[in-house]
Amino acid sequence: MTNERLRGTVIRYDSRTLIVTELHTRKHYLCDMPGRFKKLGIRPIVGDIVEFISTGESSGIVENILKRRNELKRPRIANVDQIVLVTCLEEPAVPFYILDRFLVLAEYSGLPTVIAVNKVDLLRSREFLRELYHTYGEYYNIIEVSAKTGHNIDLLREVFKGKISTMAGMSGVGKSSLLNALNPGLRLKTSDISRRLDRGKHTTSRVELLEFDFGGYVADTPGFASLELPELMPEELKEYFRELKAHSGYCAFSDCVHINEPNCYIKELVETEDIPLTRYESYKKMYEELLERSKQRKGRR
Ligand code: GDP
Repeated sequence: MTNERLRGTVIRYDSRTLIVTELHTRKHYLCDMPGRFKKLGIRPIVGDIVEFISTGESSGIVENILKRRNELKRPRIANVDQIVLVTCLEEPAVPFYILDRFLVLAEYSGLPTVIAVNKVDLLRSREFLRELYHTYGEYYNIIEVSAKTGHNIDLLREVFKGKISTMAGMSGVGKSSLLNALNPGLRLKTSDISRRLDRGKHTTSRVELLEFDFGGYVADTPGFASLELPELMPEELKEYFRELKAHSGYCAFSDCVHINEPNCYIKELVETEDIPLTRYESYKKMYEELLERSKQRKGRR
């Protein structure tokens, strides 16, 4: 039926193409943006919910872009529900420091974060897993999976179901394999219109949302392409380590950054192993980096 007023999620948008998935039927519509939006410089981004009028079987014209709940910068997506951070303890054994950098970026985005430990089929003992739970288990939801054997893939499916997610993690940890285990052929099934449009074209850098058969979306580009720290002052970093934030306010100095100050409660907790040493070491290393960055900037001014 044409001229119906519908609502949908933008799954692809570039200079020429806007594809919207209708919320109830999950049908794809190739939509136009009226000139008045362009004149005002208003553009949708993937993840946006739009109202549109259908002008044909699979075409429409956008009427309105609903207010965004949030907006992730890299990749640029609106209304993201969560970050699924994928890591491995073997092949590759991702250093905790790298995981900690991802976690700072995730905290900075303000989005809920789940840690998925992939390739557990490669582990000969649970020793490394125990260490991971000890380090992160109190503040993060951890799920052990294997894209290869299918272990806990049903649980991971529940994590993704009905949400807009972005996956992040070092290259080689198995992000693509997990998507394929969650929903075989995901990349191929998604958006016939997209594939038709892309025929014969070179790849572009835009982000697209892939649609799970079981409901929900995931960005086709991993989150936080670079591990560069966010634009923070060194003294703000402590806000992005959950265990430091949870115990702040008990140090002798209210503005304690837990580095050199006396009577620092955080350092006491590190000594009693209530805060994992590796987390604190990561914090110190990133603090130094931010300090160096801010000195260089001041020097340039
Ligand atoms: P991505 O770079 O994060 O997307 O990683 P890929 O999905 O390309 O996987 C990298 C390599 O790890 C591939 O050779 C996969 O076959 C392998 N791999 C992925 N998941 C698993 C797993 O659960 N167990 C094992 N043993 N290998 C896996």
